[in-house]
Amino acid sequence: MLQQTQVKTVIPYFKKFTKEFKTLKSLSKCSEKRILKMWEGLGYYRRARNLLMTSKLLIKNYNSKLPKTQHEIKKLPGVGDYTANALLAFVYNYPTIAIDGNVKRVFSRLFNKNENKINFYQLIEKNKKKLFNTNRNSDFVEALMEFGALVCKPKEPKCDFCNLNSICKYFKSTNKIESQKQKVTKNKNYDIFCYVNKKKQIALTKKNDVGFLSEFILPEIKESNKKKVTNWKFLTNYKNTISNKKLNINLYYKFSNKIPEKFKWFSIDNKKEIIPSFTKKIFNQVSLLF
Ligand code: SF4
Repeated sequence: MLQQTQVKTVIPYFKKFTKEFKTLKSLSKCSEKRILKMWEGLGYYRRARNLLMTSKLLIKNYNSKLPKTQHEIKKLPGVGDYTANALLAFVYNYPTIAIDGNVKRVFSRLFNKNENKINFYQLIEKNKKKLFNTNRNSDFVEALMEFGALVCKPKEPKCDFCNLNSICKYFKSTNKIESQKQKVTKNKNYDIFCYVNKKKQIALTKKNDVGFLSEFILPEIKESNKKKVTNWKFLTNYKNTISNKKLNINLYYKFSNKIPEKFKWFSIDNKKEIIPSFTKKIFNQVSLLF
């Protein structure tokens, strides 16, 4: 849930899920439709599907236990290096670190060295004995992430209060390296085309050519080519953010009873289907036509 999502947003969902699914088994028996409904509003629905698939796989192939090796954990849907390391530390107290942006920044400041010049895996491997000397590896991983988020922050780190300032090269140096600047994402222009009918319905499809929207049911959408759009009526322009991408959207519509193959009509007032928030925004704009 926490991938790309803030803690404060996740908390109510986490509570709801752990209340509803007390065991791995009860989770594995949930229907996809239900889990998607419970996930509604969190976005990135692939995570919900992966969670469900993982629960089934663990029961079927792993005797309801999380595998104990990186190699096996990474076979689970949606689990890469970062999640695998975090799980091994949190669940089994293994001496391993999930390397995220916070952790990278802490180490790079300790050595006052550019992140790109540090091989983090090698660094951790070399210093294993020193890093994992308390047998509280799970707490250590968590603490390191929190330390990066709350003390050794991207801007204005709290060096004066930091327990590490006596060994920190960044703190002592007069020539401080600056942490990696976040890439500035520019707004991208997209054109969205909606078939609408008089019954307040929009034609949607699961097929589209836009990679980051592969799981969403959407009207036709494509990157603007700056040519003048003909045959469609312009409805509105608005901004939306999805998967860290900032989109500048031009919404076009056409009243029609005929829709292309693989499209289906969906009511704008639809309460039953799980409609991603990105699509709901389109619904809201189109409802202004009625
Ligand atoms: S002294 Fe400052 S820069 Fe160094 S680890 Fe602490 S907070 Fe980060």
